[in-house]
Amino acid sequence: MTEHSTSQRRICVVGSANIDLTFRTSRFPEPGETITGRSLHQGMGGKGANQAVVAARLGAQVSFVARVGNDSFGTQAIEAYQADGIDTSFIRRSENQPTGTAAILVDDHAENCIVVVAGANAELSSEDIVAASTVIESSNVLLCQLETPVEAATEAFRLARAANVLTVLTPAPAEHVTGELLNLCDVCVLNKTEIELLVDQSVNTEAEAVLAAELLRKRGVNRVALTLGSDGVVIQDEQGSMFIPATTVRAVDSTGAGDAFTGALAVSLASGLSLADAARRAGIVAAISVTRLGTQTSFPTVEEVADWNT
Ligand code: ADP
Repeated sequence: MTEHSTSQRRICVVGSANIDLTFRTSRFPEPGETITGRSLHQGMGGKGANQAVVAARLGAQVSFVARVGNDSFGTQAIEAYQADGIDTSFIRRSENQPTGTAAILVDDHAENCIVVVAGANAELSSEDIVAASTVIESSNVLLCQLETPVEAATEAFRLARAANVLTVLTPAPAEHVTGELLNLCDVCVLNKTEIELLVDQSVNTEAEAVLAAELLRKRGVNRVALTLGSDGVVIQDEQGSMFIPATTVRAVDSTGAGDAFTGALAVSLASGLSLADAARRAGIVAAISVTRLGTQTSFPTVEEVADWNT
């Protein structure tokens, strides 16, 4: 059995589960106006679910700790995760809150307006995390984002750190980040907007990206992967920084690219790859996802990523 064997990759994701409803319209309605939309598409979203789905499609054993409502969207979400082979036994159903839902209006100029209701995501609690402690502590990597309460992510990171499990954080939305969470973070994966908000430093050049990553590491994070869209990614650890250019592709929809990158990075880190090698492979997975429409529908399976197992 090689070091990169699938059986060794156990990933626990703590985070959000949403249903995305995308309404296509020629233009946005004015206040008080009703307009007829062209089409409606229902998809799966939520940063937690996105990252869990990517990791599962790449062959990892994934457990997803989350909250959905006791409604039909919740049932559909759980069934979809199970179809991807995700362990859903730590997803709790909230009685008084609906499954998190996003209403996304897209007009003919590809502009969008979005309303997200967190619903059951807001009820993910420290007790839910403690109930999942066995699976967190037996994972190789724990992944958290901040679309669910920061208390839950912090509790999960505490358990993981004590059990020597690698902690990976996507600090989005960035305004929810705390100092304690950054101190418990082994690898922080974030985009330009998020790091600019966190370290109050603009990122328009590679040198500024390196400086911003340094500032973030000074706040307690061990290693940083700063994603820069079609440019690529800057990684930084105690040994230094490296820029890894993105794969050149014809992009059609970059929704979920960051989550594709993070889920894939986690799988490679769980297999024991270095941050640089993991970021290279994650960039390939994210590039494939931007060539396809949708969020979770755009994430490739392991068979679709050339050389994934080499
Ligand atoms: P987010 O989706 O969080 O805003 P980014 O836009 O930085 O994140 O994208 C994450 C990663 O996805 C990038 O670092 C890159 O590897 C890949 N990516 C994004 N857009 C493209 C693109 N147009 N072409 C190739 N790769 C892309």
